[in-house]
Amino acid sequence: MASLPLETTNGTEQAWIRRTDDGRRLLVLGADLFDAIRRDLGGIFSDTFAANLLYRIGISLGRTSYLAARNRIATEKDFWQVLEEHLKERGFAKLVGHETSAEGSKLRVEVSLHDSVFAENVTSRKPLCDVLRGALGEWASLHYGRKLLSSSESACNTSGSEYCIFLVELGSEMNQE
Ligand SMILES: [Zn+2]
Repeated sequence: MASLPLETTNGTEQAWIRRTDDGRRLLVLGADLFDAIRRDLGGIFSDTFAANLLYRIGISLGRTSYLAARNRIATEKDFWQVLEEHLKERGFAKLVGHETSAEGSKLRVEVSLHDSVFAENVTSRKPLCDVLRGALGEWASLHYGRKLLSSSESACNTSGSEYCIFLVELGSEMNQE
């Protein structure tokens, strides 16, 4: 794939237009530029708005990517393996741990990631991996066939934690509602 820098700041390429083999154009953003956009959204609207918007984008991306990978997922083991490959191949993060537990009719899914792209060169007191928070929530919701109640990030690499830790809460099974 050929690519040319779209914008240069202090000699660092920030964004690129790429063409796929079938001729579609892709706008590729550097992690730094992505973070600048996030900060602008926070400044113009609010940090909560930026977090919610990126969470929604994550859910949408998660839905698309899960549905594309679905035919490779038959078992619980497959699910985690395919998710791990997906995160790694695309450069989002490394999956380092996961735990699923039932709590009454709810299901809690805890996921730990290392080296999140959204934490690259970013420090913050608040967790900032909202896209991953949404995508992981949607993957878990679709896989377990349960409504996504919430997805939160309790620790983030941006605030000094070695891992980004996500907690997804799912409701009762869809077909029982
Ligand atoms: Zn994070």
